[in-house]
Amino acid sequence: MKKIYLLATLFAVTVCTTQAQSRRDKEQTYTLDKPYETVLVQPVKGKKVKNVILMIGDGMSLMHQYSAWTANGGKLNIENCPIVGLSKTYCANKLITDSGAAGTAMATGQKTNYHSVGVDTNGNPLPSLTDIAKDKGLSTGVVVTCRLNDATPAAFCANSPDRDDAEKIAADYLDCNVDFIFGGGSKHFTQRKDKRNLIEEFKVKGYNTPQSWDELKDIKQTPIFAVVDTLDLPVPSMRGEVLGDASMKAIELLSKNKKGFFLMVEGSQLDDYGHFNDLDLLMQEVHDFDRTVGRILQWAEKDGETLVIVTADHETGGLTLVGGDKNTNTIVGKFSTGGHSGVMVPVYSYGPGSQDFGGIYENTSIFDKIKKLLKL
Ligand code: MG
Ligand code: ZN
Repeated sequence: MKKIYLLATLFAVTVCTTQAQSRRDKEQTYTLDKPYETVLVQPVKGKKVKNVILMIGDGMSLMHQYSAWTANGGKLNIENCPIVGLSKTYCANKLITDSGAAGTAMATGQKTNYHSVGVDTNGNPLPSLTDIAKDKGLSTGVVVTCRLNDATPAAFCANSPDRDDAEKIAADYLDCNVDFIFGGGSKHFTQRKDKRNLIEEFKVKGYNTPQSWDELKDIKQTPIFAVVDTLDLPVPSMRGEVLGDASMKAIELLSKNKKGFFLMVEGSQLDDYGHFNDLDLLMQEVHDFDRTVGRILQWAEKDGETLVIVTADHETGGLTLVGGDKNTNTIVGKFSTGGHSGVMVPVYSYGPGSQDFGGIYENTSIFDKIKKLLKL
């Protein structure tokens, strides 16, 4: 059975890699059939930072943003962010980082080795923003569309020098003390070599454990461990607005804490479609992420004490926009790699404290700035 699964995985990876290679350096045209309305929010200034929402578009560069802006007829929600900075993403032992090391830099404030999550260059566990915020009495949340053992959420909730150590990373979630967890990957929590059923263990710890959005939506109490798919969630056209819905649900529950909250929201699968050099699916993911940005900014505007940061961990695919027309919602793009590329990534910010995020800085500074502004 295991052999069949391995062969199937190998086959799927080979097919995707071959498809990506056949698309590489070739022009792809994408047209957005149904452009969406963007929101307009007014800047908030001069108030204290009570809550921080860190939004990570995995593998999202300026080129992804400008492509998505063009396809949506010349508008994006992210344009409401008044301050923009640039983040240097290289990791401890490589110029071109991966999501593990880059996520760890933002989650813990330390550059670590390629492929590591939540540990230093010697493999020692590091406390993450979710740990530190929780220790100070804030509520915490992690909302992603990938399997929870994947590198970005793992950098906030687990500790391993090997991001592929799925069983260990899944087990670490039990001790991460995060109040609201949403993502996929139930396979790694229930079908395990060590025969543990981690979802049952979460129940014993007092967590609500909904296994679909329908089961989650009416729950009024944290802690919540919502694992809603066996692996990654499906493509945007199939999963609907669940990234935005789950993010707003997290905000609804976490904002009950008078001391504030820290929430990480990831547009997880931009990276996958960058790797696959698939412009169509990539744009669907960027737009899904941007619609979520819009909903979160509208909430932050009303709240007035929430800092929203929207950034990326690195670029994926070496996307270049070589043509298009915003009047016809059409873009022409090319990819130059099936991997990640080396470029500074934008950091957009909105709300109190956002002025600290202008300029050019290390990805680790994102941790330092959040820690300072939340007085952690
Ligand atoms: Mg990721
Ligand atoms: Zn990647």
